[in-house]
Amino acid sequence: MTITFNDLGLSQPVLQALDMKGYNTPTPIQEQAIPPVLAGRDLLGIAQTGTGKTAAFMLPSIDRLRAAENQIPFKSCRMLVLAPTRELAGQIAQSAKDYGALAGLKVHSIVGGTSVNKDRNKLHRGTDILVATPGRLLDLIDQKAFNLNGIEILVLDEADQMLDLGFIHALRRIHQLAPADRQTLFFSATMPKTIKELVGQYCNNPVQVSVTPAATTAERIEQYLFMVQQDEKQSLIEMILQGRHQVPGKLERVLVFTRTKHGADRVVKKLAQVGIAANAIHGNKSQPQRERALDEFKRAKTPILVATDVAARGIDIPGVSHVINYELPNVPEQYVHRIGRTARAGKDGVAIAFCAEDERAYLKDIQRNTDATFERLPLPERFRAVVEGVGPTKRAQSQPMKRVNPRPVGGEAAQRKPKPKHKHPARAGKPNRGTSHGAPGQGEGQQRRGNQRRSNQKRFAR
Ligand code: AMP
Repeated sequence: MTITFNDLGLSQPVLQALDMKGYNTPTPIQEQAIPPVLAGRDLLGIAQTGTGKTAAFMLPSIDRLRAAENQIPFKSCRMLVLAPTRELAGQIAQSAKDYGALAGLKVHSIVGGTSVNKDRNKLHRGTDILVATPGRLLDLIDQKAFNLNGIEILVLDEADQMLDLGFIHALRRIHQLAPADRQTLFFSATMPKTIKELVGQYCNNPVQVSVTPAATTAERIEQYLFMVQQDEKQSLIEMILQGRHQVPGKLERVLVFTRTKHGADRVVKKLAQVGIAANAIHGNKSQPQRERALDEFKRAKTPILVATDVAARGIDIPGVSHVINYELPNVPEQYVHRIGRTARAGKDGVAIAFCAEDERAYLKDIQRNTDATFERLPLPERFRAVVEGVGPTKRAQSQPMKRVNPRPVGGEAAQRKPKPKHKHPARAGKPNRGTSHGAPGQGEGQQRRGNQRRSNQKRFAR
């Protein structure tokens, strides 16, 4: 028999809000977590993103807050949700507003990178639900602008990631400041030793719910692998995004991971040089820049987002069709988190890893520590020649205006085959100056190929 939200004991306002969101069936973690949380138990949820864990803790908490009917405490909150990143905090706060729409609860979020004065003002009268990143929360506590005395429910979301980001001291302090008789809901995708210790401090005899064993990769994600040299990766990603080298699945929204902020910027810049619009999202970007990049990605205005691990933590976007690991992570769990960005909420997804010679050890680690199995994909034909700018495909890339189209993936653009060479001569990534409409003279074509080769030499010489 299929379990419905009605069977889980949730109140009418919450059920109506779920109805408005179009959720019919609870996900496994919701099915298992909602009844004990409604009953007031502490919870340890081992779950990766995409499993519906936000609703699993938010829905019963909303009902408990409603039922308790306590006053909003001055300069404090009744429910505190801690999240590792600004994006995740924003999304949780949005979910709280959506799910609690009819429950009349006040929801706020506070994150770093925004005005601390505004946060102080908005929290002066307190709130029912506060979603916060640990750093900003402690800033306000230190300024005596906020306290944790009113907390009835405390949630730690993505606790393993908070530790990776160096929040261990913050979490220990928050634990000491929060009332001991609170309810604690603790979520982590993985269970290393430090997390177990933290669970011991934070939780009181928690009910344990595990929807996937620690560090396993989501089942619905098809995982592919290119063995490729470092200096070939950029050409490979360009060819994939331009639809010139087919990969499984239809490219709709592509999330690309690099290890460093600088690496993310470099990929975006080079994609722009061949007319592919993409945004980067990482810790050096301002909050408005990050929000704009996410928004454009969500609306598929710029359906390619190049991210670092930290920045991508909070990304919850339905319809990420492909995750490309441009560089492999050196921590296997990170691989699980990355590919968990696709195949969310029952959808299928494709993950593609680019592995260079010097990343073989990372690949082995991933295979050993997760259940990842990869199907190896072939590189494009005569690929080395393409990379060096002397192969036929590289020249074909120089087709002008189509490549400047800022929507290179998704439906049509991705499926479009390169036009025959003689019809559209090259000026890749540059505005069409008119001359490129006509068939080029022989000399002109050679000149361009020379330029292309020189710019490639410069590019790969770095
Ligand atoms: P989460 O793991 O909490 O980040 O949720 C992943 C995605 O699943 C989000 O886009 C949610 O809005 C969506 N979601 C959560 N619960 C359900 C449900 N019961 N039915 C359909 N979608 C859901």
